[in-house]
Amino acid sequence: MTAGRCIGRVGGLAVALGIGTALAGWGDCPAWADTTAGAAGSTTSSQSTGTPSGAPEKNQRKPVKPKPKSNKHADKAGKDTADKDTADRDNAAKPDKNVQKPAAADKPGKGKVDKGEAGKADEAARRVSLPRVTAAVPAKTVATPTVTAVAAQASAAQPTVKVAAVSTAPIAKLSRALRSLQAPVSPLSSTSVLVALAAVRDELERKTLKPTSTVAPQPVSTLADTTPNVLVIGVDGTNLSRVLADPANANFFQLMQGGTTAPASIVGHTTISNPSWTAILTGVWGEKTGVINNIFNPAVYDKWPTVFNQLETFNPGIQTTAIANWDVVSAIAVSGSVGADHVVNISHIAGDSDWSLTDDAVGDATEAAIAAADPNKPNFVFSYFVGVDENGHNYGGASQQYADAVRNVDQNIGEIMQQVNDWEAATGEQWTVIVVTDHGHQASKGLGHGFQSPNETSTFVIANNPNLFTAGGVNLKYQIVDVTPTVVTLFGGTPAPKSDGVSITNLGGSTVTPIDDDAALRAAVLEVIGKYGYPDIGTDLKLGVRTVFASVPYFLNQGFDAVTAQLESVAAQHIFVISPLAQAMTVPVQLVGSLTYAATNAVAQVVARLTGVTGASLVPIFMPPLPPLVGTEDPAPVAACTVLVACGTSAGIIAA
Ligand SMILES: [Zn+2]
Repeated sequence: MTAGRCIGRVGGLAVALGIGTALAGWGDCPAWADTTAGAAGSTTSSQSTGTPSGAPEKNQRKPVKPKPKSNKHADKAGKDTADKDTADRDNAAKPDKNVQKPAAADKPGKGKVDKGEAGKADEAARRVSLPRVTAAVPAKTVATPTVTAVAAQASAAQPTVKVAAVSTAPIAKLSRALRSLQAPVSPLSSTSVLVALAAVRDELERKTLKPTSTVAPQPVSTLADTTPNVLVIGVDGTNLSRVLADPANANFFQLMQGGTTAPASIVGHTTISNPSWTAILTGVWGEKTGVINNIFNPAVYDKWPTVFNQLETFNPGIQTTAIANWDVVSAIAVSGSVGADHVVNISHIAGDSDWSLTDDAVGDATEAAIAAADPNKPNFVFSYFVGVDENGHNYGGASQQYADAVRNVDQNIGEIMQQVNDWEAATGEQWTVIVVTDHGHQASKGLGHGFQSPNETSTFVIANNPNLFTAGGVNLKYQIVDVTPTVVTLFGGTPAPKSDGVSITNLGGSTVTPIDDDAALRAAVLEVIGKYGYPDIGTDLKLGVRTVFASVPYFLNQGFDAVTAQLESVAAQHIFVISPLAQAMTVPVQLVGSLTYAATNAVAQVVARLTGVTGASLVPIFMPPLPPLVGTEDPAPVAACTVLVACGTSAGIIAA
C-alpha cells in the first residue's frame, strides 16, 4: 500500500466517539439548532429592505464583476495576516447585495422567466404585493406574533422533520395558499408557511407524488437547445446557513436570486462524504448502493451507473468533464462501463494548509473547461471543491477558517460564473448551473460529520437557469439525490432504472417565491434550515451505530497506510541496515493491515445490512485499489488549465 491509497480526507478518529455524542445530543435538539438560528438572526438583521423589480434583461444572469486574477492569488499568499483587509477589499470590489442594492433592472431574469400560467399569476401576485410589503412596516410588526405562534406550534407538535398535521395537504395547494398569502402578510408570515412545507417534505410522500403526478410538471422539462450545457458545482461539507451568514458570499446568493434554492436535508441517510457523493453522482441513496464509508469500491458503479456513465451511454457525443480535488470523486468519475471523457484530478498542493490554492486550482480548471466547451456539442462539467470540508474537520464549522474557505469557494464561483456569462454572451447558448453539497458540519472541531444532528444533515441544492427555474424561488422537494436524474433529463435522456432521485425540472410545482426581496429569501431559507431536527430515535441510533462500525476499517486502513508510507520513506534513504530492515517490514505491515481491514470491514458490512443497507456486501474481502489517478501538484493555476486543454481529447485520467 502507498500513501496514494490513503483515500480522501479524515474527519479525525474522534468519529468513534460520535455515537455517544449522538445519543447525548438527541435529547437536546434545540442546542444543535441554535447555531443555525443564531446565524439566521445575525444575517437577517443586516438586510436592506426590498426594492420592486423593474424590467430585467431577457434570459440573462446578472453580470458578475470579475475580480482581477492577480489580486486573488496575491490575497491568498497573505491570507493569514491580512484576511480582514482582503475581505474588505473584496466587499468593496464586488456588487454586495447586502450593502448596496443594485438597480431593480439588474435583477437576473426576474419577470422574464419562461413560465406557464401559474407562473404568470405568481408574477402578477408578486408585483401586486410589492408596494404593500414595502409600505407595510407596521403590519409586519403586528403579524409577527402570529407567525411566531405558528412556528412554535409546529415545533412543539413535532420536533422532527415530519409534521403529521399538514402531511396530508398537497404541496401544490400549500404553494397556492402561500402565494395568496403573499400580498397581505409580511415576509416572516410567508416563511412560516415554508416551514410547514418543509415539514411535509418526506421521502415517502415524495415518492407517492411522483407516479400520481399530484405535482403539476413544469411546462418545460428539457432544454430547447439541442446541445445543452450543464455545470454541477459540488462543495463538500458546506452549510448553507453559514454561507448566508457571511454577506461577502455574494456569488452563492446571486445564484440563489437568479435560481431556485432547496434548503434540503438528508436526515435519515448517513452524513459521510462518499455515500453522499455517490448518491449525488448516481441518483441512488447509500442504502441501496452499499457505500457506507469513504472507501472507494469500483464494483458499486458497475451496478449503479454514474451520471457520466448514464450520459455517455445515452449519447457518447456529450462532452463530459470531471474536475475534483478528492481522489475518491475522481475515481467515481472514471468508474463504470464508461467514465467521463476528461477527468482532472487535482492533488493537494504541498504547503497549502488551508486548501485555498488547491480549491483555486479546481476553480481555474473549471473556468478553462467552460471556456473550452464547444457550443456545437452538449457539455457536462462536474466541479468538486473539498476545501470547506477540510477546514470544517480541522477547525470546526463555526470557525473563521471554515468561513474563509466558504468565501474562497464563493470567489471561485464568481469567476466561474463570469466565464459562463462570457461564454453565453459569445455563443447565445445557456448553461444550467446546479450547486450542491453532500452534508453539513458540526460547529465544533473534532466530530465533523457522520451523524444525524441538523448541522450535519443540512444540505442544499441551488438550480439556476432562467429558462427552467424560478428566480428567487424556494423548493422543499429537491434532494441531493436528484442531481443525476436531473442532469440526465436535461440532456434528453432517461434516468437509470431504480433511481431514488427524480428530475427537479418536474418538481417546479412545489417552488414557492417567498417574496421579491433579498432579505425575505434569506430569511425563508434560514428559517427552514433552522427548523430541521433529528430523525426518530430508532433511525438516529441505527445510523449512529452504522457510522461507528463503518468508520473502523476506514481509519484502520489510513493508519496502516501512514505506517507503510513511513517505512517506505526510511527504505528510500539507503541507511545502512535500517533501510533494508524498513523495506522488509513493509510486507508484514501491509499483510496485517489487509487482514485487519478484511475483518473489520466484514463486521461493518454485517452491521450495515442489519441497519438497512440492502447493498451491503462482504465482497470484495480486501480493500479494492483506486484507479491510477495522477494529480497535478503544480500550484500555478495555469498548469491545470494547460493540462485540461492539452489533454482534453484523451479519455480517462489526465496526467500532469
Ligand atoms: Zn463530505
